[in-house]
Amino acid sequence: MSHREPTTAETVDYMADDRPIAEGPIGPGCSKRDPIVVADNVTRRFGGITAVDVEHLEIPRHKITALIGPNGAGKTTLFNLLTGFDTPNSGSWQFEGTNLSGMSSYKVARLGMVRTFQLTKVMGKLTVMENMRLGASEQPGEKLRNALFRGVWGQREKDITAQAEGLLAKFRLDTKRDDYAASLSGGQRKLLEMARALMVNPALVMLDEPMAGVNPALSQSLLDHVKNLKAEGMTVLFVEHDMHVVRHIADWVVVMAEGKIVAEGPPAAVMKDQAVIDAYLGAHHDVDLGSKQGIEELEADLAADEESVVGTADAGILSRGEGEDEAETLTPRPPQHDDSRPHGSHLRKDDSE
Ligand code: ATP
Repeated sequence: MSHREPTTAETVDYMADDRPIAEGPIGPGCSKRDPIVVADNVTRRFGGITAVDVEHLEIPRHKITALIGPNGAGKTTLFNLLTGFDTPNSGSWQFEGTNLSGMSSYKVARLGMVRTFQLTKVMGKLTVMENMRLGASEQPGEKLRNALFRGVWGQREKDITAQAEGLLAKFRLDTKRDDYAASLSGGQRKLLEMARALMVNPALVMLDEPMAGVNPALSQSLLDHVKNLKAEGMTVLFVEHDMHVVRHIADWVVVMAEGKIVAEGPPAAVMKDQAVIDAYLGAHHDVDLGSKQGIEELEADLAADEESVVGTADAGILSRGEGEDEAETLTPRPPQHDDSRPHGSHLRKDDSE
């Protein structure tokens, strides 16, 4: 089948776009037809540990890319580096052709590259609306010289409020508008964090374990929201341990292990890769790695995966009231590799307050 680039006058249905993602052979660090992020030689060491050692990585534009790998593979650290929340020992990367190395997280977000956190960072003592307003860029009233002139910032204030109200309605949080964020369930806080990230009209949304700690009912709608980001023309990069989720919503999968990219490709193909099987079993390290039983369990999981349905056909058409006032149940997680890790990224429960 021949693939034709659309002309600028044509609009692309991003959900149906089946043009190839890679340009040339598929493998770790492969070139993409249309990358939104290009990273080179990014390394981050913590003492004797090399947490990230990425030679080359390209994130495809308008696609949903899953970043997977065992605990401690360096996924969160890579997120932190790319979005300016941490500083690498070496490396450079571009977003939409702009060099982001050394740029603060605030500026990175303003350029349209936003991220959410494993443990949500919504402000519990602020209302839902106040949290949303904090997500907006360009608030002229913040500048002292403008603050005196209501005309300068009054209209922008109204626009920000209207945008926040639109997003809250979309994420079914409008009835919580004036509630303290602390009163939301863990899943609702994830939704709020995602909604807040969209206040800058981003081109790339990076989600660190969006489904962790979310009850099953709400995770369906979260998945729909992720798919909708793509439908609306955004690029998504997300970290996820649940292979069912990955298989059903990702267009492309990048696999990290011990800081390096060890495989990448379309989900169905990449999950048969031996490096991925190792990584997958590594993430479920309660299974005896490499044992016959372990492989059988993985095969059973993948077979069940073929039949499971994740997300709904009505992506974005969510029933009113879902997730509201539900008791939050935590998704069971495998035990962790190393409880003595010096940072909190392994904590699964939302405890941001
Ligand atoms: P998980 O899936 O468990 O969240 P991950 O793939 O996101 O894991 P990272 O959290 O990025 O992995 O950790 C990569 C390595 O870097 C681990 O060995 C971790 O212990 C180490 N590390 C991460 N952050 C720090 C830090 N601030 N100080 C010291 N070591 C760190």
